[in-house]
Amino acid sequence: MSIETSIASLVEDQTGQPYPYRQVELVEPDWTRFPGWRDVTAEEWASVQWQRSHCVKNVKQLRELLGDLVDERFYADLERDQAERATMSMLVPPQMMNTMVPHETVAGPGSLTEAFYADPVRHYMIPVFSDRRTDWPSHPHATRDSLHEHDMWVAEGLTHRYPTKVLAELLPTCPQYCGHCTRMDLVGNSTATVDKLKFVGKPVDRLGSMLDYLRRTPQVRDVVVSGGDVANMPWPRLEDFLTQLLEIENIRDIRLATKALVGLPQHWLQDDVRAGVERVATVARSRGVSLAIHTHANHANSITPMVAAASKAMLEAGVRDVRNQGVLLNGVNADPHALLDLCFRLLDGAQIMPYYFYMCDLIPYSEHWRVSVADAQRLQHHIMGYLPGFATPRIVCDVPFVGKRWVHQLADYDTERGVSYWTKNYRTSIEATSADALTKTYEYYDPIHTLPESGQAWWAEHGDLDASALRAAEVAEASRRTAALQAW
Ligand code: SF4
Repeated sequence: MSIETSIASLVEDQTGQPYPYRQVELVEPDWTRFPGWRDVTAEEWASVQWQRSHCVKNVKQLRELLGDLVDERFYADLERDQAERATMSMLVPPQMMNTMVPHETVAGPGSLTEAFYADPVRHYMIPVFSDRRTDWPSHPHATRDSLHEHDMWVAEGLTHRYPTKVLAELLPTCPQYCGHCTRMDLVGNSTATVDKLKFVGKPVDRLGSMLDYLRRTPQVRDVVVSGGDVANMPWPRLEDFLTQLLEIENIRDIRLATKALVGLPQHWLQDDVRAGVERVATVARSRGVSLAIHTHANHANSITPMVAAASKAMLEAGVRDVRNQGVLLNGVNADPHALLDLCFRLLDGAQIMPYYFYMCDLIPYSEHWRVSVADAQRLQHHIMGYLPGFATPRIVCDVPFVGKRWVHQLADYDTERGVSYWTKNYRTSIEATSADALTKTYEYYDPIHTLPESGQAWWAEHGDLDASALRAAEVAEASRRTAALQAW
């Protein structure tokens, strides 16, 4: 049963409320259960070099690791996805692989197949063809750079989308590649379906241009230092960038974006990295600047003692906070108990603050992961009241051309065609001369398979139109709907 039906059909006493909170002791699953890692020692496991050199990057390596514990049909399913659907290449560090099927008994050939298919971490890190929808694999409005970040670059890789905040994409790689990555246009290696954009400038020139822009733009106070993942930047170069950033008087908040804290915690546990973070945090503190780490965990199974140790190391090194920005994904965490399990595991076990859950963006082939705004609202409702207020995550929709909005902030909602309408309260560079930027509405689209029959029929009739004809049909439909509502 999908999240749409499972939540919508529940009556009050069937919603699983109250959530049965209990403390859970974190456990590192035993990696020697996988045939390919039978002889791997604890020392090797703790080594970031070993982790990086044993990432699973293709079907052959996955087969070498799991052998016949997973049926051939799974490998064939994965191969087909890589050839026809995948927007991200495969890259899974052992640490992440080990959080898949953590509780299953290995009992001979094929014994992990069904559990592997059903596993929430597998579901977003190793997507297979049969996971994806065949009716609407992509929404007609899905695009590569769905948030139009490149349109708002003020220097190559520096997105200025909010009045006081910027996003600095320092590099286009990560230690792990998530199947749903919103920056699929830029991040990672090209796949059979996506030729990735490449940065043109030399890294040193690009980073210099970013710093120049921030020096001459005093209204910016907050920098998300991201990528990709900053864990893939050699520490001395990252420290040099951060040190220069800290010399800019107007910068008051710096957030380092790294899923590696969860996917490759061994990176953040290295002595030189810890010492470097401590140096930067000391300068930040002396200047009254808040330095935080933002990580990305989507399921409770990802939170292991190694992750908790990395978070603790960063807090001890002096970062003000470690926060989690997960992605709301059907088949992974789009369920009130799954979200609360994750939040409590983060908070109790790893001192990581639950902060946001983003709705999955409108990128190609993501429909099987996405949930409707209505479901996101229901999920937000169901998780209220358990966590401290400061640790209750907000579920947000990153609306193209608008930015993050809490899911209850929409201005209007056509639930039949799954179109939510949002407004904004500031202009960005690309609409500086637009007279109606602050009065018009901007659309976000629910997955079509979640709509009532009449809505699905509308998209079946119009979904293949070219962009301008589709836009005209949508405007006409919106006018008809408004007239009908006024008449009523
Ligand atoms: S870690 Fe972040 S940037 Fe990297 S692939 Fe995953 S979602 Fe994309």
